[in-house]
Amino acid sequence: MRVGFGYDSHVFEAGKPLVLGGVTIPGSDGLKAHSDGDAVIHALIDALLGAAALGDIGSHFPDTDERYRGADSSKLLEKVAGEVRAAGYAICNIDITVICERPRLREHVNGIRCNLARLTGLDAGCVSIKGKTNEKMDDVGAGKGIEVHAAILLS
Ligand code: MG
Repeated sequence: MRVGFGYDSHVFEAGKPLVLGGVTIPGSDGLKAHSDGDAVIHALIDALLGAAALGDIGSHFPDTDERYRGADSSKLLEKVAGEVRAAGYAICNIDITVICERPRLREHVNGIRCNLARLTGLDAGCVSIKGKTNEKMDDVGAGKGIEVHAAILLS
């Protein structure tokens, strides 16, 4: 068994869609990034790579590489899940916490769960997404961006 942990954060940027876990969340600014800014998938990719000791998202998909400008993070996740399996591991479960003051994620949690399950080849019952606020503390609490923590287990 190997545990993995990943973290990501992005600030909001007006004029682009918010994509979390591969799901477009209506009514919110997007996240500033070289790619599509999907902080949920970025944290999950780092957790997967970390558990398998295969480096990190920046070494696999450099933000200086024009191929990844506006990249669809879902495609990157599918690639990394394949690499982790090719290294001999099975993904047991995924547990993710998303922290932001807005938007409220409750109504989107199930859609994100099902989409991440599809992208990683897991049952939805093996994927957990929890949304919470930062109780108005710090920059995340002031609504400047989103933080994501992801834990996974490989066998
Ligand atoms: Mg990121």
